[in-house]
Amino acid sequence: MSAYPVTLDELHNAVQRRELEFYFQPKVSFLTGEVSGAEALLRWRRDNGALLEPDSFIPLAEASGYITTITAEMFPRLLFDMDHIAAESGDPLHMAFNISAQDLLGQRFTGLVDEAVGRRRVNGERLELEITEASVLAHEEAIEHNLCALVDSGIPLSMDDYGTGYSSLETLEHLPFSTLKVDQGFVTRMFESSKSATLVKATVAMAQMLGLKTVIEGIETHGAYAALLHSGGMEGQGYWLSKPLPREDFVTLLQNRRQWPASSVGLLRMAQLGHVWQHKMLMDMAYAYLGDESVGAEVLHAMHMDVSECVLGQWYYGIGQRFAGYPDFVNLEKPHRLMHLVCRLLCDSLSAGADRGAVADVLSELTRNATEVFASLERLETQALLEDLH
Ligand code: C2E
Ligand code: CA
Ligand code: CA
Repeated sequence: MSAYPVTLDELHNAVQRRELEFYFQPKVSFLTGEVSGAEALLRWRRDNGALLEPDSFIPLAEASGYITTITAEMFPRLLFDMDHIAAESGDPLHMAFNISAQDLLGQRFTGLVDEAVGRRRVNGERLELEITEASVLAHEEAIEHNLCALVDSGIPLSMDDYGTGYSSLETLEHLPFSTLKVDQGFVTRMFESSKSATLVKATVAMAQMLGLKTVIEGIETHGAYAALLHSGGMEGQGYWLSKPLPREDFVTLLQNRRQWPASSVGLLRMAQLGHVWQHKMLMDMAYAYLGDESVGAEVLHAMHMDVSECVLGQWYYGIGQRFAGYPDFVNLEKPHRLMHLVCRLLCDSLSAGADRGAVADVLSELTRNATEVFASLERLETQALLEDLH
């Protein structure tokens, strides 16, 4: 007896008869509480009316290699659905599409994407490809090559089920992902184990330091949403927000402008963490220098950042402006600017071979400003949290 609930012939017929369709599950921004994107998830509507979920046919498609045909058949359908959704809702949405590692072994899929982007059939930035970390672990040269080519043509890549593979950190180091999707298992276990809760939050913080966005999957309850709202993760996805919906129901959800609770405290926290981190990196460089170790020019160069480019700056000159009336917000700007100036001075001193006394002076100045920035941010966070509770 076959290990699969359907046969390859049945699946083949289903594709030819166009029985596969997409359901859409929204992703919600923790910052605005609005739908910020969606993930397209396959469903098989059988002629007897039954609706099959991917778990009953994707494993067979993967094992038989037929998945590449499904991807190639469904990708144009996705573009069609995206156009329809944008036209009906007036909202050109970010859409995530799941692909398999096998789609990256040959040129078929990348060819389709290149053509669609080249003909401006789709704006590459509106599309996102999700691939599980387990499947890219094979380190096949072709997979790496194709992933990089997709990114070069402007398509963001998202690492799905993050935390379930075997070598996540190494994969992150090598491949050009721009988003991590924290696996739903961590969220499910968050209330049973403080370790899982810490892992979710530490993953979000790590992603932030690496310049990656995080999407947290598997939010099934209001409690889980509330617990993650201030985590600094960008988006949430899960049954409590919405189950995957048939296309027209999804359009209705967009038209109704559904709104969930929102908070910008997470971004504020990330700004804080980003600055603590940057301060520590500078201190490390100075320690190394004072201990007669050389500091690479590349490392020094990476620390040069304009005041509006760092996480705190992006927040301050962007969404953080909602705090513009608070004295603590206003008082942040000066020490923050000074921190960046001193940072540049420190890097220049280190590359010019300044003496220990001069480096120590610059370090004290840096710390003075950093302390002011942190104190203001702490007070602002408390104010923002208290406001959110009203
Ligand atoms: P995935 O990419 O991890 O997709 C998320 C799955 O979690 C979806 O299951 C979704 O319905 C489910 N989910 C969403 N929110 C919650 C929640 O709060 N709680 C729980 N318990 N589950 C939640 P679905 O639609 O059954 O898809 C299963 C898997 O099938 C997907 O996992 C993906 O790996 C694969 N898949 C779906 N569509 C495609 C496709 O077009 N191509 C490929 N290659 N794989 C696909
Ligand atoms: Ca996915
Ligand atoms: Ca997933």
